[in-house]
Amino acid sequence: MDEIQEGIFSEGGNLYTVAASDEDVYGENFVERQGESYRRWHPDRSKAGAAVKKNMDLGLDKSDDVLYLGAASGTTVSHFSDILRDGFVFAVEYSDTVIRDLVHVAEDRQNIAPILADARNPGEYDDLVSEVDYVFQDISQKDQPEIFIRNAKKFLASDGLAVLAVKAQSISSSRNPGDIFEEVKEKLRAHFRLVDEVNLEPHEKDHIVLKMKPE
Ligand code: SAM
Repeated sequence: MDEIQEGIFSEGGNLYTVAASDEDVYGENFVERQGESYRRWHPDRSKAGAAVKKNMDLGLDKSDDVLYLGAASGTTVSHFSDILRDGFVFAVEYSDTVIRDLVHVAEDRQNIAPILADARNPGEYDDLVSEVDYVFQDISQKDQPEIFIRNAKKFLASDGLAVLAVKAQSISSSRNPGDIFEEVKEKLRAHFRLVDEVNLEPHEKDHIVLKMKPE
């Protein structure tokens, strides 16, 4: 196993994180190496995993506190939980159906707080979330950049990192994805400095991931 980023490992072209629980979350495999148990991280099931596979350094630190918007049933959140051995994930999801699975994942781990709330309204959870070192968003909504800016402005530390997965189809299914990505970047430019960008092909069609620092 080679550690390619903090808490993220690679072997035979596959990605792994060190398992903080022996329960699988989405049918992923476990492998044992030198007394450590590693969970396979599938880039086709996780935009953050796909970004790593496309050589983006996520820049996570094991002691970071992370606000994760669009947590769904916890596929990617569980890998963040593995990486953040001394950190914490505030995991926001607005579907009361899928958050049930996330609650199950959180019961098995020490560092995930599932929050049932609409990320459009950060005031719904500002009593639950502290200032964070990192904001990650994966929300398929037309107003995804506005949701991201609102949350980063409210919760992100001035020296933190903000990472956004952009799905062009959710903004418009008829326009050119390249034009949509430029428009999103223009909106973000007023608030952030772009430090890295990857296109998620072949793992996801018409998706990019943007890594930013607050201005
Ligand atoms: N990030 C997840 C992963 O990798 O495991 C997958 C996220 S899925 C693409 C998007 C999720 O965002 C869905 O579960 C959806 O219910 C949630 N979502 C959409 N709009 C939201 C909103 N306004 N507030 C909170 N969650 C939202």
